[in-house]
Amino acid sequence: MIMLPCPWCGARAGSEFRYSGEVIDRPDPGTTTAAQWRDYLYLRDNPRGWVTEWWYHRAGCRKYFTIDRDTRTDETRARGDSGGRPHGRAPRVGRSWGR
Ligand SMILES: [Zn+2]
Repeated sequence: MIMLPCPWCGARAGSEFRYSGEVIDRPDPGTTTAAQWRDYLYLRDNPRGWVTEWWYHRAGCRKYFTIDRDTRTDETRARGDSGGRPHGRAPRVGRSWGR
């Protein structure tokens, strides 16, 4: 079972969360071509190794957060760039936005 480090609730079982996609920088709409915009919306690298992902704690605090996860082993690490606290960026993917 995968354990995920929610910045507000601590480590919890993966079944409490919903995967919300890779963290991807949004291109500048003013300078992006249609092909680049399509790639941003629909194409993913799906790398083998460490990736940064959005997760939603649906059975807990109902907030989004990012973690690093090794796709080979499901080992996870809390993100150091937010100091364990939310950094205010909302995911691009997801039906609800938490509180
Ligand atoms: Zn939580």
